[in-house]
Amino acid sequence: MVYFYIQSVTIELNSKMKYWKKINFDEQRQHIADALSKNIDYQKIITLGVPGSKLDSQVFYDQASFLKEAPFLQSIVQNPNHIGCHTLGESEPYFAGTQEIEREVIKILSEDILKATEGSCDGYIATGGTEANIQACWMYRNFFMQEYGARLDEILLIASEDTHYSVHKASNLLQIDFLSIPVQMDTREIIEAELDRLVAQAQQSGKKYVIVISNVGTTMFGSVDDPDSYATVLTKYDLVFKIHMDAAFGGFIYPIVQSENNIGFNNPHVSSVTLDAHKMLQAPYGTGVFLSRKGLINYVLTAEAKYVNGMDITLSGSRSGANAIAVWMILQTYGPHGWLEKLNTLLYRTTVCCTDLDKLGVRYYRNPQMNIITIRASDIPFTLVTEFGLVPDSHGNASQWYKIVVMDHVQIDVLKQFIERLSQQLS
Ligand SMILES: *Cc1c(COP(=O)(O)O)cnc(C)c1O
Repeated sequence: MVYFYIQSVTIELNSKMKYWKKINFDEQRQHIADALSKNIDYQKIITLGVPGSKLDSQVFYDQASFLKEAPFLQSIVQNPNHIGCHTLGESEPYFAGTQEIEREVIKILSEDILKATEGSCDGYIATGGTEANIQACWMYRNFFMQEYGARLDEILLIASEDTHYSVHKASNLLQIDFLSIPVQMDTREIIEAELDRLVAQAQQSGKKYVIVISNVGTTMFGSVDDPDSYATVLTKYDLVFKIHMDAAFGGFIYPIVQSENNIGFNNPHVSSVTLDAHKMLQAPYGTGVFLSRKGLINYVLTAEAKYVNGMDITLSGSRSGANAIAVWMILQTYGPHGWLEKLNTLLYRTTVCCTDLDKLGVRYYRNPQMNIITIRASDIPFTLVTEFGLVPDSHGNASQWYKIVVMDHVQIDVLKQFIERLSQQLS
């Protein structure tokens, strides 16, 4: 028997968590019950003007005894509306209890995971990564216009060719020109010479203000961009810029297993971050996160949002407070050590599968800190793509890559089964 070590594993979290703790279920239930009790009870308090109520009790039976044991479902039934942003200014007093839980979530993510200093960030639970990315572009567009008198055609949105299509939605909605930066085929790294050349060209054509979207785990590859390489080039050309990190996929993985990193708020170039709790965290759909340094989110204040107490500086408007509770429960159920252990399990499975692919001579891309394996389409028989539900980079017949995302349900047994079928097909 030959033993070999295949991967160095992160065995210890190297920063101390202030807010992220492992909390047992009873304590969680108590905490959530307290929060819900501080929200409005429509049965007890007269509110003639609020256009909301709890879920329709003709349809959703709210006296079921199991609800007492299910704080998330209970919060769904009570239906708090977290409209607005609760890390600054005033908020709707009717949902103050559960807004506090949302603030705790924002602190865990911005300070414990992304290394912001105490109280230096704003944030809210968005509907997903798409909204959070659009919110960031909207915020910086307005920032450049209001602070520098920028014209729309002087603003540029830059991101790698592997960037999620939501950034193209943002470009279209906000009418900001998009510049795509090519990446190296094998490493998925931004080609720096091309970045330099394209930025110089954009400046020549009148661009002065740049919004950068830098990835922490691209959707197709799990590749991580270096935000400092953008900062270096943009500084060289004397352009005014802001960097947003799209950590929709990687935000709950990369900064935890790679605690020495430059993708968080300890990097002065990073101004805002997107995370998606409905991907790695397995929260209900409709749960993304937008985080930003203080002093920026105000640029998307909608002055006409007068009926909302406080101010609405979010893209979504009304949104469910239950989503914030779901994120809080997931994080506090695992605690940082339990979460790292879970991530290490996923990374271990990923490494086992990659080692098997190496033995078969099948080419793939994988970031060692991520749980995505992206296989060259030409190295894999198409029958296996449908048989194992691999996802292509492009639907139709132009696919160059197929990916495996090692989620909770993607266990070693299935990966081994895949490798066995692959080896049969290749021999
Ligand atoms: C999934 C994803 C998004 C979009 O997120 P939705 O939650 O589907 O809106 C944005 N960026 C990246 C990198 C993603 O993986």
